[in-house]
Amino acid sequence: MTEELDVDVAVVGSGAGGSVVAYHAARSGARTLLLERGPHLHPRDISHDEPEMIARIYKDGGAQTNNAADMFVLQGSCVGGSTVLTNGVCLRIPEPVRRSFAAHGFELPADELARSHERVESVLNVHPLAPSLHNPAVEPLAEGFRRMGHKPGGFRKNFLDCIGCGYCNVGCRYGQKLDAAQTWVPMALDRGAGLRPDTAVERIDHHRGRVLGLLCRDLVTGATLRVRADRYVLGAGAIGTPELLLRSRIKTDLAGRFTSFHVGAIVFGDFPQPLDGFDGDQMCLHVFTDRFLIEQCQNPPVSTALTLPGWYGDHAQRMQRYRHLAALGVLVPTAPTGRVFLGLGHRIARRFFDHADVRFAASRDELTRLAEGMQLAGKAMLAAGATVVHPPLATGRSFASARDLDALPALVRRQSDFVGFGSSHPQGGARAGADPRHNVVGPDFRVHGMDNLFVADASVFPHALGVNPMLGIMAVADRAARFVLDAELPDSIDEGPAHRARQRLAGAAT
Ligand SMILES: Cc1cc2nc3c(=O)[nH]c(=O)nc-3n(C[C@H](O)[C@H](O)[C@H](O)COP(=O)(O)OP(=O)(O)OC[C@H]3O[C@@H](n4cnc5c(N)ncnc54)[C@H](O)[C@@H]3O)c2cc1C
Ligand code: SF4
Repeated sequence: MTEELDVDVAVVGSGAGGSVVAYHAARSGARTLLLERGPHLHPRDISHDEPEMIARIYKDGGAQTNNAADMFVLQGSCVGGSTVLTNGVCLRIPEPVRRSFAAHGFELPADELARSHERVESVLNVHPLAPSLHNPAVEPLAEGFRRMGHKPGGFRKNFLDCIGCGYCNVGCRYGQKLDAAQTWVPMALDRGAGLRPDTAVERIDHHRGRVLGLLCRDLVTGATLRVRADRYVLGAGAIGTPELLLRSRIKTDLAGRFTSFHVGAIVFGDFPQPLDGFDGDQMCLHVFTDRFLIEQCQNPPVSTALTLPGWYGDHAQRMQRYRHLAALGVLVPTAPTGRVFLGLGHRIARRFFDHADVRFAASRDELTRLAEGMQLAGKAMLAAGATVVHPPLATGRSFASARDLDALPALVRRQSDFVGFGSSHPQGGARAGADPRHNVVGPDFRVHGMDNLFVADASVFPHALGVNPMLGIMAVADRAARFVLDAELPDSIDEGPAHRARQRLAGAAT
């Protein structure tokens, strides 16, 4: 028998976008239900066993790829969504991007966006990363970049009392990373919202421009659930939201189109002395140029093994040098040329492959920019004293001099020339803009042609943000909540773990 539930606001997906809207909805007094396909983990359920955690909290156990299988697409599948896997990097939507979105018809007024950024930052406790949490590879890498004429910067992060364990990408077992599972979701629950983890929304039932209900499946028991609401919000992420629209035959001409990414891979440098880069926060330093982004990426052993180039004995030997390795991720924002669609597998073998397909191939220019970024990363490591650099080439070739590295761009012609090529930042697929002929969602986040269906996640971005997107997605979802609820939001949010910590500090000071 199908269970039936009636609420005011139903939110699909509890990640960066969905969790923020769910909080505001519950706070406004609306009966709110958050539906999440992944499990609900407490920090005590999180361990440093990388394979186990990747299998539990990453979508498809970390094995989601594009159709050609030459690019992975990492996303979270748990309460809190991909925010649980982040390195805690918090960057605002850059002003040129805001203007470019406005030119496209997706207006985010500067003053209102600034207020949304501030509200989100206060809930997430965003502060510059404390130098005491830096891993020991930071200083040599910073010196290398300075020798190459670049001034490296640090990051602002959403940490509380972080101990710099270096395992952020499998969730924080100490509860010190203020991801959505530690902030917006419990704050929404405290305000009376309901949460259904392990529950996949399979289809949106609609008629004449109005959603009538969500058809869901409990992934543990197999039971079906029907949710009826006044307003429905999709926060299933840049693959999940277009997938759900396509399955439900909503905006099928445009849903899934204009998907963009920050694509990249990791360059390793082998130093004569042990650096012990694992001993601290993984990602402490960056160099951003207008052609590529470089972010330190000091991963724990299994993730290092999965991304370190080289085959068989070479790979094993390089892993033996784990303590000596520095790692720099190079990223390039792509044009919105990707596409999410329901492919052959979905049509003919639905029982076995009920999954959206992702098509993306980086352009020649995007690959060139990536290779340029890898050259700079490699040269900075050599300038800092590395004896050899391993760019993420499928051939496993290493480079021992800056001159040799000049050959790198010529060696890269396609995605499959890399190892570990992929993206943790898919965006677009339900693009926002005023013109319903070219966009899925209006500037008020309502799906064009639908009365009571909204989208509030990374899928609304007309093109890639060009910076790590979590904070920007939360700020945009904060704005979306205004339209979903048709109400002004509070100026400040005086609840949640960051607020309680500030109160404790103030109490201790008096
Ligand atoms: C390893 C990693 C590290 C990252 N580090 C950073 C960082 O340091 N800083 C930064 O800014 N960004 C980072 N990101 C990116 C950032 O986490 C994402 O861009 C952001 O969380 C996306 O927000 P979203 O709301 O669009 O989707 P998500 O946060 O992915 O949330 C979508 C949720 O919807 C659920 N869902 C999907 N389909 C359904 C369905 N049919 N029914 C029910 N639920 C469904 C999913 O399970 C998921 O929980 C990182 C990402 C990864 C993978
Ligand atoms: S580095 Fe800090 S925030 Fe990240 S998992 Fe470890 S303790 Fe948590």
